[in-house]
Amino acid sequence: MKTSKKLIISLAIVCSIGLQAAVAQDIKFSKWFTGGTLRIDCERVGNAYSDELSLKRKLDRYADWHGSRTQLIDPLDNGDYRVELRDAKSGRVIYSRGFSNLFREYKDTPEGRTTVRSFEETFLLPMPKKAVNVVFQRRDAKMNLVDQASFPFDPKSEELGYNYRFGDRTDLEIHGDPAEKVDVVIVAQGYNGAADPQLRVDFYRMKEILFGREPFASHRDDFNVYGVVADVGAEYNTFGIDRYLMTFNLWRLHDMLGTTPCDHIVIMVNNEKYGGGAIYNFYAVSSLHRMAESVLPHEFGHSFGGLADEYVDEDLSYGSLHRTDYEPLEPNITNRVDFSRKWASMLPQGTAIPTPPDASVPRDQCGPLGLYEGAGYASHGVYRPTMNCMMRNYAPFCPVCTKRLEEVFGLYTK
Ligand SMILES: [Zn+2]
Ligand SMILES: [Zn+2]
Repeated sequence: MKTSKKLIISLAIVCSIGLQAAVAQDIKFSKWFTGGTLRIDCERVGNAYSDELSLKRKLDRYADWHGSRTQLIDPLDNGDYRVELRDAKSGRVIYSRGFSNLFREYKDTPEGRTTVRSFEETFLLPMPKKAVNVVFQRRDAKMNLVDQASFPFDPKSEELGYNYRFGDRTDLEIHGDPAEKVDVVIVAQGYNGAADPQLRVDFYRMKEILFGREPFASHRDDFNVYGVVADVGAEYNTFGIDRYLMTFNLWRLHDMLGTTPCDHIVIMVNNEKYGGGAIYNFYAVSSLHRMAESVLPHEFGHSFGGLADEYVDEDLSYGSLHRTDYEPLEPNITNRVDFSRKWASMLPQGTAIPTPPDASVPRDQCGPLGLYEGAGYASHGVYRPTMNCMMRNYAPFCPVCTKRLEEVFGLYTK
């Protein structure tokens, strides 16, 4: 008994050290994957008390795998969910990615406490050569990932559906092989087809907004940008919040992308009214309001970087979301349960903790790095890295957000 207990303890230590270190990317792409793309459509049904996932469609996207061929395992412990491909024979994880979804927000709304609703999800995965299990994980009460559902997939014995393309696609800015670039698709909603004269102007504007801010400006060459015209049902007033502009039609959205290489989706809604929204590794939305120059980088911070909001809004129903006994997942906020996992090591020596607010910092500057109270919608108990940030009030991205964005670039370009 004694030795086995010791063994368990030492294994636990090894595991926790392993989490700190970079994840070993020792999966050889050509051994495990064909180079094609598998699309999986799922339906998630539930409310605050239930969350059931079922698999609806398995499709061959008839497109080369656009993601990295070396960064197959997600090293970032972010997102409320994770999808994994596990070799059916050995159980070895050969691909993984964290993500979030609209359901995660729905279950915290008043409606989500009483009404069961159904949500679409779509996953683009590297096509495996051998039989795998497609495993979906979610967070337990302690924020650990646990298996939720597993679906067997054997490429040799299954007849896959096709992913037809209905939309018109334009290459807006191409810098190289999709396997080594961040492939962003701007989906234009509310236009008169591909011939709409306003389309070119608006595609150009959105693309320039995307590269208008650091760190994206310096990484322009790391991107490919494509345009697709499609109405995908994006609407204001999602979950009763007027400016919250989102779509529930994930399957249609992905149908319309067809074979376009796609790491990230930006939905551009042809409407002058202020609005937007985004979810980590799901999609981002922006309208054409004059504030889009600020809204889009902020929303892309959510969908691309998995960054949290650093602002305070106690009126939001999820205002107490991060005041828990567990450290929030996002890198740019902390409730100080485990601040060492966040930006503690980046703080200059002698920084006051918490850091008193400094009203003299101009709104368009981050100000000094510290630990400022008020973030993640909560005015108390949740902290942010700087006075101002893109994720708080459309200032430049703070050093903590920038560091995470830089890490994420590497997941696509290496
Ligand atoms: Zn936000
Ligand atoms: Zn920030």
